Amino acid sequence: MIKLNNLAKRFGDATIFSGIDLTIEKGEIVVVIGPSGTGKSTLLRCINFLETANRGHITIGDVTIDSQQAAKSDIIALRRKTGFVFQNYALFAHLTAKQNIAEGLITVKGWKKDDAFQRAQQILDDIGLGDKGEHYPAALSGGQQQRVGIGRAMALEADLLLFDEPTSALDPEWVGEVLTLMQKLATRHQTMLVVTHEMQFAREVADRVIFMADGEFVEQGPPEQIFTNPQDPRLQKFLNKVG
Ligand code: ATP
Ligand code: MG
Repeated sequence: MIKLNNLAKRFGDATIFSGIDLTIEKGEIVVVIGPSGTGKSTLLRCINFLETANRGHITIGDVTIDSQQAAKSDIIALRRKTGFVFQNYALFAHLTAKQNIAEGLITVKGWKKDDAFQRAQQILDDIGLGDKGEHYPAALSGGQQQRVGIGRAMALEADLLLFDEPTSALDPEWVGEVLTLMQKLATRHQTMLVVTHEMQFAREVADRVIFMADGEFVEQGPPEQIFTNPQDPRLQKFLNKVG
């Protein structure tokens, strides 16, 4: 189970959010939608300490951390339990696809190189890139690069995968293959917290959709409820706009 308790984040004088509570059950797929600048990325980044929250506790499985008193070892323990998929893939340009996937197994999990490469090959097969292991990122399409980005997160067998707009940097032609891979993970009951503007994905794959605006969870529920019976005027306006 994943739990955020009273999480708050400021940048200087600007309060981004001030009391976020969230529980995600094992296997649950939660999609966060909302206008630009509302704090969605910041929230994801606070969960695995790419940013440090100014208040609150984060629990992932059996690890609970007070954001104000996190020791380095706590942060490492928590990062072992999360995988992060970035909008811009953030692959290592000087490593092949297979090395990119194996890297975390070696550095984060301490696997032997041979074992890590063997596992990386299995993941490449799983994400439909079995013959692309020796390619460097520059020799892969955007969609393929992002599938490697997801493969890298999958390799860690994380309790929670965090996705921050994983398709929004892609040419439209590559969006489908990335969403299909995410859907495949969902059918395997991989716990996921996904920020996306892909409303179709949210409708079809989410167990729960959260509408975030002005640094708050304004409304949340099953996709049918959020998309067909939105209550808050801000959500109604947002849905009219994204259509
Ligand atoms: P988008 O949909 O455009 O990605 P978002 O909901 O992900 O938006 P965030 O990126 O979390 O929004 O940003 C929330 C607010 O925090 C914005 O006003 C942004 O300018 C501000 N912000 C984000 N990162 C920093 C930072 N490192 N320093 C200062 N302000 C920041
Ligand atoms: Mg963002």
